[in-house]
Amino acid sequence: MGNLQKRIQEIKQNISEACTKVGRDQSEITIVAVTKSVSEQRATEVVNEGIINLGENRAEGLVRKQQNMIDANVSWHFIGNIQSRKVRDIVGNISYLHSLSRKSIAKEIQKRASNPINCFVQVNVSGEESKSGVTPENLDGFIDELADFDKIHVVGLMTMAPNTEDEALIRSVFSKMRILRDRLKEKNMPHAPCTELSMGMSNDYSIAIEEGATFVRIGTALVGVESEGVR
Ligand SMILES: *Cc1c(COP(=O)(O)O)cnc(C)c1O
Repeated sequence: MGNLQKRIQEIKQNISEACTKVGRDQSEITIVAVTKSVSEQRATEVVNEGIINLGENRAEGLVRKQQNMIDANVSWHFIGNIQSRKVRDIVGNISYLHSLSRKSIAKEIQKRASNPINCFVQVNVSGEESKSGVTPENLDGFIDELADFDKIHVVGLMTMAPNTEDEALIRSVFSKMRILRDRLKEKNMPHAPCTELSMGMSNDYSIAIEEGATFVRIGTALVGVESEGVR
């Protein structure tokens, strides 16, 4: 078995254990392999292993991979900050946008998209200045505003945990996200069902799943580091 296969197997094992621990079913979890730092070749290998949800964080990277992977059956996820002028480059080509947090971007999507786009609203729970996202205080208001845009379908919330070794802190961020998501879900808003939670990366996906993640975005732990020749 190659290194890529071993990594995928280990991740699936960890996901399974996290699910068992909290009584969840593994089928609730979608693995998004973040391929932003690897080549089309590596991304194609990932797809060949059955991981068909791929995440990119730059419009250029997304477009280039899509052009070079035309034959691969991929669901593309855009996970990074998007600039208004780049929206038109990605909007027809993605299954999910994980990083909606500005009305200007919503307006641009409304203008450019021909079909509704599945969007996660990015939330900055930890309050770190460096992170983008809507604050928990502004979340309901922001989502209410999105009702005006029929090209935006709010499937759920996304966050990035603080970059820390403090597991309790990470867990508290994920736990807060779940509470926010559950409350929005109960509102039964047609434009914002908010059933999903996109959270958890290479270092914290097990915690995220224990706290309710339905989409995990895993980069290095899954795709490896190509420059070091890891395969
Ligand atoms: C890069 C990135 C990831 C994956 O990070 P890893 O630590 O490599 O797993 C997940 N989400 C976002 C938004 C990213 O930019």
